[in-house]
Order: sequence, then structure tokens, then C-alpha cells
Amino acid sequence: MSMAGKRVVILGATGSIGDTTFRVLDNLGDEFRVVGLSAGDRVEQLVRRARACKPEAVCIADGAQVEGVRSQLPGVRVLSGPEGLSQLAALDGADVVVNGLVGAVGLRPTLEALKAGKTVAMANKEPLVMAGGLVLQAAAEGGGALLPVDSEPNAMWQCLRGESASAVRSLFLTASGGAFRGWTREQMITVTPAQALDHPTWRMGSKITVDCATLMNKGFEVIEASLLFDVDIDQVKVVVHRESVVHSMVEFVDGAILAHLGKTDMSLPIQYALTHPKRRPAPMDTLDLVGLGALHFEEPDLLAFPALELCYEAGRTGGTAPAVLNAADEVAVEGFLRGEIGFLDIHEVNRHTLGAHIPGPADSLAEVLAADEEGRRLAREHVTVVRGMPSGRATARAVGPGEE
Ligand code: MG
Repeated sequence: MSMAGKRVVILGATGSIGDTTFRVLDNLGDEFRVVGLSAGDRVEQLVRRARACKPEAVCIADGAQVEGVRSQLPGVRVLSGPEGLSQLAALDGADVVVNGLVGAVGLRPTLEALKAGKTVAMANKEPLVMAGGLVLQAAAEGGGALLPVDSEPNAMWQCLRGESASAVRSLFLTASGGAFRGWTREQMITVTPAQALDHPTWRMGSKITVDCATLMNKGFEVIEASLLFDVDIDQVKVVVHRESVVHSMVEFVDGAILAHLGKTDMSLPIQYALTHPKRRPAPMDTLDLVGLGALHFEEPDLLAFPALELCYEAGRTGGTAPAVLNAADEVAVEGFLRGEIGFLDIHEVNRHTLGAHIPGPADSLAEVLAADEEGRRLAREHVTVVRGMPSGRATARAVGPGEE
């Protein structure tokens, strides 16, 4: 490593992962230098961040904002749009790309960064869900490394260091259970966006918080973990753990289980992804195990949260199925947050879309993007259908996966 330290690009620098990454970098000092930042439409925050860390380049998603950003950041290269995001991800001289983007928009920049041999610290799970094979292939071909920042896969990664995939019997993915743990589907009919956005233990962006409430996020993590750690999807088991203290566990073939415990603070996985194989001190209080007293583990309620089984189904099918499900969920959650459809309708839209799609291979970016587009189109059509129905009617009859 040079005197100047590792050079970091932060994609999604004004979001929740971006904020936490800056907190981690402040703690790590000179060991890292920020050379690139991207933002969606939060120009003021982007400019404020850029003035503080003096990057070589920034990217603003909204092309109409380029001139405004340029005038406020003289001497900084200002990129824009999806093309700019991919250029920033592959920025010459950058070592590490922290991907804190939300959704499918993160796919191309992830592929570009890995092809350019960068280490990608991934908080953005959609690229793996949509195009796991392509992402892993880009890393293998470009010499880049893919490090999970999502807290559960990050915990598994820490438990798996020095072990091989063949030594793994099961991966236990812990779930807080979301905002509606213990609720029935009938109780969930009238759930509002405000209720779904009130997560019990983690503070995150709105799309992922709704996905936590439906358990879709957990389902995506099942797909993510099976790809990252090269195990069969049915070896990944979800366990509801309301304290969110155990961030995940690995069960080995000899019956030993290793668990990763810690506070619910994303700075922990982000810092580890940046500093590994070393550990650095962090300004984090000790987890008060005695104060906690007990940890609880339960089976997930698959009838109340059918999203989980839908993700296993898409993962087993493989090919374009996970990309279509991911696209459907982005459209459905957006429709829910806008008040167009009810909470349970999110699953109705996702299930319908996955069922209407004929899966094919996902061996090229073109195939994945076509599947993504088809998923969005099918989901939008179904949002329109569901929207015309009285609240909950489309889904009051929705039952467990085996009964549909
Ligand atoms: Mg997670």
C-alpha cells in the first residue's frame, strides 16, 4: 500500500450506507482516501461531501444537475447518468468501490468495477440477486474481489474465513422478523407505508425497510448467500432472531456452529470489508451480553410471509427468474409507498409477475436486462389491475405457497 493509502470510490454516497462509510473512514484516518463519489439527486449533500473529501470525480444521476454541480466543484470531474456511474466505478487508480446503491441500478457499475480488478464492498444486493453468475464471472475474469457488506453475508464471511464450501452443512441467516413479526395476513391488510417503514432494529433506506417487513429482503439474502458462498440454496436456512445480535451463523459438517455477534451498526461490516484481513479498533461500545440475558430463535412464519418461499422458488429455478422477481419487487414496493396498492398486494404483484415469466438463461447482460425490463412491465400491469380493487381484496384470499 502506498503512503497515500487505499483509494476509495463511494457509490450512493448520500444514502445511509454512504453516511456510515464516511463515519468509518473518519475513524480509519489516513489509511484511506476518497477519490470518487456518486449521488442520485441530493446535490447539496454531494457538494458538501465533495468539498470535505476532495475527490477526483463525482457522479450525479440526474443529468439536468450536472452544470449546477460543476459550478460548485471547480477542478472536480463531474460525470452523470448510468454511463457516468459505470465510469466512476472503474475509475483509474481506485482500489476499493463501496457499492451503497439501491436496486438494479447497481448492476452495471458492479460489473465494470470487478472487470477493472477493483475490490467491491457490496451493500447493494440486487446485482447478485439479478445476475449472480455474471457478477461472479466478472470478478473471476477481472481479478476483482467481491466482499459482502450486507450484515448477514458479512457475518457468514467472517465465520467462513479459512474454511471451504465443502465444510459447510448449513448457513443460518438471521432475520429480525421485520416490523410485523407475529402478525397474521389479516392483520397486515391495512398496513400503511409509515408502519412498514418503522423497522424495529436497523435504520436503512425505504425500499429495503419495506423488504424487511415483507421478508423479501431476507429471501434476497438467501439467494445472495448461496451465490457468494457457493452452496445450494436449500442449505441456506432462515431463522427469526428478534434481538438482531447474532448477525448470522455457519453450521459445519462436523456439527460445529460459528456465529457472528455484534451491535446493529452497519459501520461494523463496512469497516471489516475495508480493513480485512486486519481488524482495526472502532469507537463501538461493547455488546452487553449480560444485559441482554437471552437470545431467541424461531422458525419464520411462511404463511404470513410468503415472500420467503417465493425467493427460494426463484433461486431454485435460477436463470432469469431472480432478476424478474427483483424487478417486480422494485415496482411493487414503489406502488405501495405511493399508496397505489396495499401492503399484501406487494406479494400479489411479485407472485403474479414471477408466474407470468418464462425463465431463460441469464448468461449475458443483455439477457438479464431484458428480464429486468419484462419483470417491470409485467409488474406495472399487475399494479394497475390490483389498484382497481378494494383494499386487500386481491390478497385477502392469498394463502401459503403450497395452497396457491
Ligand atoms: Mg441484511
